[in-house]
Amino acid sequence: MLDDSYLATDCDNKPQESCGVFGIFAPQEDAARLTFYGLLALQHRGQESAGIVSSDFKQVNSVKGMGLVNQVFTETKIKQLAGALAIGHTRYSTAGSSVIENAQPTLLDSSYGPLAVSHNGNLANYTELRQELLKKGHCLNSQIDSELIVRLVIEAHGRNLKQKLVNGLSQIKGAYSLIFLTKNKLYVVRDRWGIRPLILGQINGRGWVIASESTAIESVGGHVIREVKPGEFIEISYKGIETFHQLKSKSGGFCIFEYVYFSKPESIVNNKLVYSARLKSGQLLAREHPAQADYVISVPDSGTAAALGYAQESGIIFQEGLIKSRYVGRTFIQPTQRIRDLGVRLKFSPLQRFLKNKSIVLVDDSVVRGTTITQIIHLLREAGVKNIHLRIASPPFKNLCFLGIDVHRYDELIAQTHTGQEIMQKIGADSLGYLSLTGLKQAVGRVKHGLCTGCFNKKYPIV
Ligand code: 5GP
Ligand code: MG
Repeated sequence: MLDDSYLATDCDNKPQESCGVFGIFAPQEDAARLTFYGLLALQHRGQESAGIVSSDFKQVNSVKGMGLVNQVFTETKIKQLAGALAIGHTRYSTAGSSVIENAQPTLLDSSYGPLAVSHNGNLANYTELRQELLKKGHCLNSQIDSELIVRLVIEAHGRNLKQKLVNGLSQIKGAYSLIFLTKNKLYVVRDRWGIRPLILGQINGRGWVIASESTAIESVGGHVIREVKPGEFIEISYKGIETFHQLKSKSGGFCIFEYVYFSKPESIVNNKLVYSARLKSGQLLAREHPAQADYVISVPDSGTAAALGYAQESGIIFQEGLIKSRYVGRTFIQPTQRIRDLGVRLKFSPLQRFLKNKSIVLVDDSVVRGTTITQIIHLLREAGVKNIHLRIASPPFKNLCFLGIDVHRYDELIAQTHTGQEIMQKIGADSLGYLSLTGLKQAVGRVKHGLCTGCFNKKYPIV
């Protein structure tokens, strides 16, 4: 287990990322265009910047920019990205690091030609590895994991790129779901704990597609083959697909928060439909924390499946109470607290006609800082709601995450600094109930390599 000093150092020093990655090797296809569509399907995983690097076997081209996938890529830009190979990235980042230098994919020149990478995850021993590289005389342009990853690979021992990938990446402790692009090949690698998802699919019989979530594969007309295994190294080329190395995998690593919040409900993660896990979590929440109310109301969209589950189990009517604007981004993703505060008001409109003088069960997927829920309760009170029984479809979020959830300091976690009673008062709820960790695990069901639940119980997989 890691102790707190380890966590504090690494969480404070550098941006954390929970991103979306996509890659495609498909002769006869416009790979960059399909990557653009794939990134749209992964937009929920990051809204700060987006990028695509493509290759037509001769030349490698790159387009990156700040903002949403749709804002970065115009028809002209997509046309600059010729070729049958492409990788893409949507980035989530935190304060101070919202700059173009940190946008991915990262592309560097090497003795093997251009080498680009898209990375999802967070390296726990980033600081150590960075110091070692700097000591050896290397320069680093950015503060992000992906640049460090490419440099580690280039400088590792090995007679060819495959060996360098194995030797370079096995030094890393932490979460990495990676797609590399060279002029004529893709390499796909997942850390030995399998912390972040990574799925492999096929397209048009002859092409291959890789993505953070199954929904992105399906949205470009591909079909899912399987998950990339924890510790697996895959090469994709004209010869087909080959697993050329397998690190000894470790159990207990898959991030349970992917089921709670990160992944899209329609995605299938570890053979489990995320929507089903959320629905079930709501049902169990109703059993663990019943309430008397006129309606069950969700905080859309991430709380909706759990709210429906709560309604099914309790028999209380599910009613839409907050209408969410489709055109305002995820508030949590906005880097400063001020924008976060405003964002919630811009994003939700209460349906006063249904809410006035009513008692409601309000269901959300999680409370982290407590910002979202405080503002929502305020809006609901203004709309005349009488009683608010807040139910959260995951346990109290009490611990830092150094593997990709954007939390940096203990004092920003409301469940760490306040008791349940204090939280209730602070956010203005009449009652509060969290789903137990046992309940959440039951909702998710058996996951082949086991789950990381560090944010809830401080048990981290990496030693
Ligand atoms: P809070 O406002 O309490 O800090 O965050 C909780 C709310 O943000 C919930 O409504 C949840 O759906 C969403 N959320 C929870 N964790 C994350 C995260 O890591 N990233 C983003 N973008 N949103 C989150
Ligand atoms: Mg939410």
